Amino acid sequence: MTEIHAVTEIYSDEYWMRRAMDLAIQAQERGEIPVGAVLVADNKVIAEGFNHPITEHDPTAHAEIIALRRGGIQLQNYRLLNTTLYVTLEPCVMCAGAMVHSRIQRLVYGASDMKTGAAGSLVDILRHPGMNHKIQITGGVLAEECSAMLSTFFKQRREQHKALKKLKNQQQELS
Ligand SMILES: [Zn+2]
Repeated sequence: MTEIHAVTEIYSDEYWMRRAMDLAIQAQERGEIPVGAVLVADNKVIAEGFNHPITEHDPTAHAEIIALRRGGIQLQNYRLLNTTLYVTLEPCVMCAGAMVHSRIQRLVYGASDMKTGAAGSLVDILRHPGMNHKIQITGGVLAEECSAMLSTFFKQRREQHKALKKLKNQQQELS
């Protein structure tokens, strides 16, 4: 008699964070700061997003906002109850506010953002005592990899700017 094993694999936070990192790469390929987000419920993807404010001419086009908007459409509900949002970078004030409005259950983020992080680094919007909706937070999942992706991007961008400046100076000297 053969034994039948039910396949009920529960994916880990790291698994979903890797998926968010894949989305961040899509942002990077468009010259945008590499941040990706995945909205998950019941071990399934509800919606995804990556950062692309520059190409969309949209200051609100952060990875999290895109994932939350698509999640609402997917669930046909403006309340995204019992969902977990995975993001490669600690959310900013705007995105943290959107998370409170959307009523997500849990936030999991990768790298901390000392300059603009609103989950404790700069300010703590999500755990503010007066906040009517409490979100469970897990930070630092694959933090080193998420952070390395960002620092590599900024380093490359600085080098590109430098090279461009050098080229312009050379052209000026020739003219
Ligand atoms: Zn944001």
